[in-house]
Amino acid sequence: MTPTPIEIKRNGSQGLTITWQDGSITPLSSEVLRRECPCASCKEQRGDNSHSKPLTPKKRSLTIIDSSLKEELSLKEIWGIGSYALGIKWGDGHDSGIYPFTYLYELAQKSA
Ligand SMILES: [Zn+2]
Repeated sequence: MTPTPIEIKRNGSQGLTITWQDGSITPLSSEVLRRECPCASCKEQRGDNSHSKPLTPKKRSLTIIDSSLKEELSLKEIWGIGSYALGIKWGDGHDSGIYPFTYLYELAQKSA
């Protein structure tokens, strides 16, 4: 069975509480959600390059950090994407992560 949320409650900027169809209620903190952001650039930052195998190693480039950790972990906006995923916008403007419900369910199980 595909886990389906029947209610998603936003706890301010701190995270989400998801009520699932099977009756379980799982909190998900902003920290977990941001750390596990499924977008390509975050995956790359985490060193998960299973989808891209560059022929030559990338040159190390200058990193400019223009947002505080607090902004990064601050949940600004959430929205539904079709009936299968959730979009999240963060305090630092990052919004390319699409969280399929099955992924959210897995995260909730992992962080429980
Ligand atoms: Zn991301």
